[in-house]
Amino acid sequence: MENNMLDDQDFLVASISQLSISSNSSQPVVARFRPEWLQFDLDSDSNNLVRFELRNSKLFKLGPSQSVCVSEASEVNKEKNYSRGITIQFINEEESRAFHCAFEQRKKDVTVQGSFLPNGTVLSKSKFEDKIEASSAKMYFHYYGQLLHQQNMMQDYVRTGTYYAAVMENRADFVDRVVVDVGAGTGILSLFAAQAGAKHVYAVEASDMAGYAHKLVAGNPLLSQKITVVKGKVEEVELPEKADILISEPMGTLLINERMLESYIIARDRFLIPNGKMFPGLGRIHMAPFSDEYLYTEIANKALFWQQQNYYGVNLTPLHSAAFQGYFSQPVVDAFDPRLLVALAVSHEINFMSSKEEELYEIDIPLRFIASVGTRIHGLACWFDVLFDGSTVQRWLTTAPGAPTTHWYQLRCVLSQPIYVMPGQEITGRLRMVAHKAQSYTLELILSAKMWGPGAEQGGILQTSSGKFDLKEPYYRMSQPQAYPMAQEQTPQQLLQTQDLQTLSQDEGSDLLQ
Ligand code: SAH
Repeated sequence: MENNMLDDQDFLVASISQLSISSNSSQPVVARFRPEWLQFDLDSDSNNLVRFELRNSKLFKLGPSQSVCVSEASEVNKEKNYSRGITIQFINEEESRAFHCAFEQRKKDVTVQGSFLPNGTVLSKSKFEDKIEASSAKMYFHYYGQLLHQQNMMQDYVRTGTYYAAVMENRADFVDRVVVDVGAGTGILSLFAAQAGAKHVYAVEASDMAGYAHKLVAGNPLLSQKITVVKGKVEEVELPEKADILISEPMGTLLINERMLESYIIARDRFLIPNGKMFPGLGRIHMAPFSDEYLYTEIANKALFWQQQNYYGVNLTPLHSAAFQGYFSQPVVDAFDPRLLVALAVSHEINFMSSKEEELYEIDIPLRFIASVGTRIHGLACWFDVLFDGSTVQRWLTTAPGAPTTHWYQLRCVLSQPIYVMPGQEITGRLRMVAHKAQSYTLELILSAKMWGPGAEQGGILQTSSGKFDLKEPYYRMSQPQAYPMAQEQTPQQLLQTQDLQTLSQDEGSDLLQ
């Protein structure tokens, strides 16, 4: 057998010395990033400076606060430049981290900008840009750049409190670990992770909220030296080290709205060490048929406007059917009474630790239920939960009907054609969810029930109802009576006075909306 092993080789070199260019004064050196290069000003009037072209430079860590920057040899105007290098001593570890993040990011920017593929198409910056419309992303990050929306999430105490508890009860998963906060917003989860003893947290946030996160972190000096805020998309930023654990709150309505789970998975593939942890690590979508005459009538009646034959002398009826379809294509978001559910729920699990990003482009869930009562089914109710699988404590964050209400509420797809069922009858169907470029999904629902009574033996499916819904355009129905926000505080006596309670919560609901 041939021996492929290389023989040892020795060279005689004249001498070796540490790579370094020394600044000639005791003044601190200023490192400046310019669009195409990195420049070190060795004196205050920029007369003496060293430049590294970002495109062909590399940065390596020699220690926690010492790095070496090397530029490859290049040929400019037929003139050969040899490789150069300097060692950089940072003021502290924190500055070193921030510098490395900035370097990698800047380098990526100059390398990607204007890169063309052989067929003339421009190379996009990331997977995010490939699959999301620029106008949608712009609106999305504008929304999250505003403090009022971050406050709204922070004030969902079920949400934020569950994250806090999950982190604090599982300190062991954070102590001395490197953490990446995926979509950090104000940086609140990074601050939790730092409180739990993290070695370092990278708070990655794409919107202008990153600036506020920086401010919030700086204002909490006991924790601030452990947190680096990095502005950019998790699909695009570069981080100087891998993470032991990711923390994120990427859930939208029905779990998948906003398509941020895909970013969470991309962040896993880019930043997490093999077998690292994810908080949360999995999510489940739960679905069950419901019966709600009141909701059905409300939606059907919305289109009645278009039934008018003499609206200022104009016949509106040609548009009635389109308006009717339009109202039934909006998924309804509100908190409903779980007693409206008429069968045990079916669940679909998404494991964030093992799923591939592409698996979220189309999710097709077969449905099978057994009706618990004889009723008219008006559609499918959906909610979700996520699991923090800590080494000490397992904790679920749930948005189920009847559980304390969250800002996600629940979601219901209402069918324009209800289905009649008898107790014990089987209901089958599917929910197909197809991702679209506006950071949301189109939902296609089909429910069928076999006929009961004469003719059933032939096995023909006689009742089928279907609907198509745009998850991006929900109908927020929060001003309706909400019997459940106060569920935890209800005494049996209060429960008897449901009528009063509903009036009260209705008022509260409209307050909340304002
Ligand atoms: N972690 C914060 C904010 C959660 S909201 C909290 O729990 O309070 C989700 C945040 O992720 C938003 O601020 C949004 O701008 C950000 N985000 C969404 N997609 C992102 C991406 N691809 N890269 C970086 N940030 C993203």
